[in-house]
Amino acid sequence: MAQILIVEDDPGIRGALIRGLTERGHAVDSAPTAMAGLEHAVGRRPDLVVLDLGLPDMDGTTMLRMLRGASTVPVIVATARDDETEIVSVLDAGADDYLVKPFAAAQLDARIRAVLRRLGDGAGADPTVVVGGLSVDPRSRRAVLDGAELELTPREFDLLHHLAARADQVVSKRELVTEVWQQPYGGADKTVDVHLSWLRRKLGETAQSPRYLHSVRGVGIRLSAPAGPA
Ligand code: CA
Repeated sequence: MAQILIVEDDPGIRGALIRGLTERGHAVDSAPTAMAGLEHAVGRRPDLVVLDLGLPDMDGTTMLRMLRGASTVPVIVATARDDETEIVSVLDAGADDYLVKPFAAAQLDARIRAVLRRLGDGAGADPTVVVGGLSVDPRSRRAVLDGAELELTPREFDLLHHLAARADQVVSKRELVTEVWQQPYGGADKTVDVHLSWLRRKLGETAQSPRYLHSVRGVGIRLSAPAGPA
């Protein structure tokens, strides 16, 4: 499993790629602008960045040069411009590969695995996420806790997978709304709270005595393995 950052301003394309790559076992985050993408790529160190060249705030090639000043993260560029000059300048700026739009998530996934394999990363192997006694397999969409399979709704599964793939990191409700629910943020954190409470019940824990799901007041939620016996 690899942590992928998609920098793409078109919500339709972004949503489709997030879904397609998540289904193929990646943990996917996204940013709608070059500045947000840079901040995320440098601050949270994803395994690979998928970068759209046509961004509202900055040309993708410029962003790539800035990113290369701070990070060696592999980058696959997505370009709508079927322009050899552009592609050469992007590869010169440090891109590892490129795709010309439109392309399917399956094709992107194959390129991602090829780039990571070339760089000797372990991604492309078993995407199952294991945290303590919890294992979450995005291919079969099965989650098992202490040997017993959890009965989860599709949304609960997506929520659990998103959090487990980022174990020990605090994930904001804003991120959950935009990444798991694929909705613009704004007043939807009640929905997140409700699903979290259902998920807690299925994991056999409560907000008051958490084992895996820890609320971090005013920040978000963190999934971590229990420290000791429950
Ligand atoms: Ca664009």
